[in-house]
Amino acid sequence: METKINFSGRSIRYTEEEIAVVVEAMRCADPLTQGRHMREFERCFAHYQNVAEGSCFTVMNGCSALEISAQLCRFRPGDELVIPAHTFTASAYPYVKRGVRLVWADVDRRTRVVTAESIEAALTPNTKAVVVVHLYGYIADMPEIAALCRERGLILIEDAAQAVGAEVAGKKSGSFGDMGIFSFHSHKNLTTLGEGGMLYVRDPALAAVVPALRHNGHCDYAFERPDYWKPAMGNVDIPTLDGEALMPNNYCLGEVECALGAKLLERIDQINDEKRVRALYFIDALAGFQELEFHRVDSRRHNYHLLAARMTTGPDMRDRFIRAMAFEKGVKCVVQYIPLNRYGFYRRLGYGEASCPCGDDFFDSMVSFPFQHWLSNEDLNYMLTATREVLCSLHGAEK
Ligand SMILES: *Cc1c(COP(=O)(O)O)cnc(C)c1O
Repeated sequence: METKINFSGRSIRYTEEEIAVVVEAMRCADPLTQGRHMREFERCFAHYQNVAEGSCFTVMNGCSALEISAQLCRFRPGDELVIPAHTFTASAYPYVKRGVRLVWADVDRRTRVVTAESIEAALTPNTKAVVVVHLYGYIADMPEIAALCRERGLILIEDAAQAVGAEVAGKKSGSFGDMGIFSFHSHKNLTTLGEGGMLYVRDPALAAVVPALRHNGHCDYAFERPDYWKPAMGNVDIPTLDGEALMPNNYCLGEVECALGAKLLERIDQINDEKRVRALYFIDALAGFQELEFHRVDSRRHNYHLLAARMTTGPDMRDRFIRAMAFEKGVKCVVQYIPLNRYGFYRRLGYGEASCPCGDDFFDSMVSFPFQHWLSNEDLNYMLTATREVLCSLHGAEK
């Protein structure tokens, strides 16, 4: 059967106003990178996050934000980093590259994100930093986790790639930690033409080196130049923190993307709210089916970037469900976030073992429904009816 509802690679459609902003930047922006649109996006984002101006930095994607955050941690041999195994690979490998040892934390069975308890269970005297991932768009218990990290003197990093706009205790995801990272990739609720990212750095001393780390180590000359063209147009030096040299990168995001990002901030709450209303509609309409266990959150704590459920009747029924949805109904559900310790990449690095039963259980029976913002009501209702029918027929087959 032909696919009726695909798991789209694109989260949102742009309004004519947003397209006009892009076209205007295409026509007029000079330079096309590192200009006023970048500064404007960073200013608007800091305002949206309710964090200090000058603490948010656009970068070319979430991964490059993680790369810089890993550099800023300045790990020493023997240092450990606590991070959930149930996440996307980009949450973890930038830290691996900096030589820190990963320690896997489990997620909560119901919320599918780490908790202060699951983090605490993974701490050792060598722990230097903690990465919390607000997976699926749900923000973890940040007040408790931040208190734990403060008490233990740990660097706290929030991977809010999927959770822009989600909030708890009146604060936005990505604003609780020492650093926060955001992704504006094609899949995310806010996307700047497919790639984009933001890095939040709380400490002004660390934030001061980010522009140079982001852009080739470029910096001002340390002296006045009587002839503006000499010795040359630009200077470079080694970004340093407390006397320690950090090697630069080029992770800049273009002006067109930045102009669009600033514009999209006006609509992100609406996008998130609309996704949540529809997620709750879908979840509530299936409340009679014990087989599908959703995470129902009726507040801005969840932006429903993804709509995921656990098949309580196990992996076998999960596979039969996805197969029937795809081949009898044309609805393409997927399975996401293999616990990282199961990938060859991490196994070969010595991270194959993890004690994460909740994350393992969830992953082995999980179903992720197509849930792009632009799904029509008709398609959502079709998917709902299809889900009911497939569950009923699987039920019948059981008996
Ligand atoms: C998307 C994502 C990233 C990486 O973002 P990119 O912009 O694709 O580099 C990191 N962590 C999580 C949890 C993500 O979902």
